[in-house]
This record gives sequence, C-alpha cells and structure tokens, in this order.
Amino acid sequence: MADKNIVNKIVSVLQKNTKNFIQPLAQTIIKQYGKKPFLILVSGILSPRVKDSTSLQVCHELFKVAQTPKQISEIPIRKLEKLIYKIGFYKNKAKSLNKASKMIVEEFNGKVPKTQKELLSIPGVGIKVANLVLGIAFKKPEICVDVHVHRISNRLGLIKTKNVIQTEKALQKILPEKDWIEWNTLLVMWGQNICTPVSPKCSICKLSKICKKVGVKKHR
Ligand code: SF4
Repeated sequence: MADKNIVNKIVSVLQKNTKNFIQPLAQTIIKQYGKKPFLILVSGILSPRVKDSTSLQVCHELFKVAQTPKQISEIPIRKLEKLIYKIGFYKNKAKSLNKASKMIVEEFNGKVPKTQKELLSIPGVGIKVANLVLGIAFKKPEICVDVHVHRISNRLGLIKTKNVIQTEKALQKILPEKDWIEWNTLLVMWGQNICTPVSPKCSICKLSKICKKVGVKKHR
C-alpha cells in the first residue's frame, strides 16, 4: 500500500503546479454556467473519446439552444445530432442525450438524481460520469476514474490495476477521502499537459523524483 506521505506529497505538488493549467471540462462548465448538475451530466455524456476543447465548443452550441432536461428532450433528434455533430459518435450521443433528458423529466421530476444507482440507470451514464456528477455537482466523496486517472495512478506506482473498476477500488484504499473528488481534477490536468499517454514529459515533471514510471518505455 502506498505511503500516506507520498499521496499527500503528490496532491500538494499537483495543486501547486496545475494553477495555470486549463481546468477540466466540468470545472470550465461550472465557471461559465454556474454549478448546474444537469449541465455537468450533459458534458459527461458528450465528452468520452473527444478532446475537452471540442466538447466545450459543442456544449456552448448546445447550451445556447437548451439548458434544461425538458428543453433538450424536446429537441428533435436530427436537430440534436446537428447541434453536436462536431464530436465523435455524435449519433449515439444524441440518442443517449435525448433518452437521458426524457428519463430525468419523467422519472426524476426534472432533477438530476443524487445517488449512484439512480444515475447509472440513465442512458449514456456509466460509472465515470456518475461519479463525476456526484463529486463535482453534489460534493459527494467519489473518485471519478477516467483514462488519465487510471494511467497516471499506475505509472506513479501507487496502484497496480488492469482496468478503471479495479483502479477505483484500489484508489479508495490509498487516498484520504478528502482528496477523492480533487484527484480526478488534478490528474486530468497533469495527463493533458505533462503525463501524456504517449511519451510523457518526465524531464520537466515535478513528480519525477517520487514517480516509479511503471510501464513508461519512452519519455521526453
Ligand atoms: S515522472 Fe513521467 S511518468 Fe511519472 S508522473 Fe511525471 S510524466 Fe508521468
């Protein structure tokens, strides 16, 4: 198990060295539209396998037209596809968005539910988006594990896991609960700027001295 001091050190290094980085998508949405759980959920449904900058642009275009579950549920599917066509898998995502909005209107009285079980029942919402909404929108201690969190937590040598489900469980054991929500925010920024998927920038990484660089074959 990872030493508590190492985890604390990593969190404080990342907090200090990500101040000037562009915030992840959900935080940027909050900054521009206020803390609205539904908009965080929508950004989570739209963002998989898409660059944050593209997702943000598409969110802006969609939010100009509609911002509530009822409004989005009333957009004809072809129009919804047109609004979000710039992102990958837009047809499937338009379908999910339409169904998710309808379900929130019909089954949750127009409000994003606050439990993991209910969130997971919504089309297009997997564990990553559910935990993102719970953590960022409702401040419930959950660890949102995306590709950055999975990759960097393993490279650091904090955990040894094969998939995001294992990563979530392993991180719950080693991270203090107070850091669960922020772990995603910090590691997403680190993953987008320093510990990139291919050839991470280890030579300028402030975590280099404590990182075990597990599985890193090529770096800059
Ligand atoms: S030292 Fe390299 S592998 Fe480790 S966190 Fe930094 S960039 Fe990633």
